Amino acid sequence: MWYKKLHWQIIIGLILGLIWGLISAVAGFNEFTLDFIKPFGTIFITLLKLIAVPLVLVSLVAGVTSLNDTASLSRMGGKTVLIYLCTTVLAITIGLAAVNLIKPGKALPEATKIELQETYKDNIGEREEGAAKIQERRPLDFLVEIVPENFFASASKNANMLQVVFVAILLGIGIIKVGGKAGETLVNVFDAFNDVIIKIVDLIMEVAPYGVFALMAALIVDLAGDDLAKAWGLLQALGWYCLTVLIALIIHVLLVYSSMFKIFSKMKLKDFFKAIQPAMLLGFSTSSSSATLPVTMERVEKNLGVDEEVASFVLPIGATINMDGTSLYQAVAAVFIAQALGMDLTIAQQLTIVLTATLASIGAAGVPGAGIVMLVVVLQAIQVPVAGIALILGVDRILDMCRTTVNITGDAAVSYTVASLEGKLHEPDLED
Ligand code: ASP
Repeated sequence: MWYKKLHWQIIIGLILGLIWGLISAVAGFNEFTLDFIKPFGTIFITLLKLIAVPLVLVSLVAGVTSLNDTASLSRMGGKTVLIYLCTTVLAITIGLAAVNLIKPGKALPEATKIELQETYKDNIGEREEGAAKIQERRPLDFLVEIVPENFFASASKNANMLQVVFVAILLGIGIIKVGGKAGETLVNVFDAFNDVIIKIVDLIMEVAPYGVFALMAALIVDLAGDDLAKAWGLLQALGWYCLTVLIALIIHVLLVYSSMFKIFSKMKLKDFFKAIQPAMLLGFSTSSSSATLPVTMERVEKNLGVDEEVASFVLPIGATINMDGTSLYQAVAAVFIAQALGMDLTIAQQLTIVLTATLASIGAAGVPGAGIVMLVVVLQAIQVPVAGIALILGVDRILDMCRTTVNITGDAAVSYTVASLEGKLHEPDLED
């Protein structure tokens, strides 16, 4: 039966959640939704986050120890970073082309502009502070921070995923070098642990439709509050802007990822999307690449047929540094704000957007709303007033859902490409 398939169940959960949220906003039982439904969505996301660090650690150690030569790790690392960078630059270029052609900023009525700036002016300060902290950093700080001084401290925070990746690789190499009986015992232990954690991810996924239902219901209540009409009006006022972001995101997925997949795979494109659909849907409902990581890893390994040593290496790095959807959105948002404020951007400024949005997406964490903090950096680089963010804040959550979906799709497409280049693909399970 079609409805027994996980992705259909998640879609049903998502739609029912939306309907529930709307009814709850109209009929006035928002408090009930926030008190008794939202917590289940929160628990669901927390469960995913809970399993992320153990999963990355264990599966990457298991992956590294299954490699015959550790030199292939650095080769894989080089390819991964290069492809991630290329797709990000392409995403920004598509975003810039779309926003320059559609010109959504010019369509924004003067009265709406003033109203938006008035409504959101107080919400900008904290984002500026977040961006200021990031700008104080030195160029190689990111490299220094990959090496933790205490592994337990890194494992205690999901934001430190690259440190966990580093330790897992180190541990894996150590086990290979020790070899013999001790090495073999440890490989078996990590393999066994890996199986257990994958089972736990399966268990969490069984409740995904309910989790997604709760998340969507709570989201609508949070967004619409008691004034559904106002929220709808906001969406309409910023309709062209939202549409530009959406069109560019779709073009990026169809053009860049689909071509990449076609070049490197004999599988049907339809099967690619079918395989990662649950991860895309979760990305959409949680707005977090990090929280979705366990599911992305599972789907990419099992349903796309990417070997564990590639998936467990490429995906956690991707969830941290590869955000094509975010960088594309930043390009559109920056130009939209400039257009709305009556500023014409030069070619040099648009090139600066390519550079800063690439860096900004690398620096953005895989959590909800990270992209808009980094947008401050882009705006400052092209000398567009940061206060302009007020214009787009109202619809950011919705666009966040869409760009996160693209971020996740990008990670999956790149991990498949790297696996194909390295000859590390196995028979995918297309049934599930
Ligand atoms: N929410 C996005 C992610 O997790 C980041 C962002 O664009 O805000 O991938």
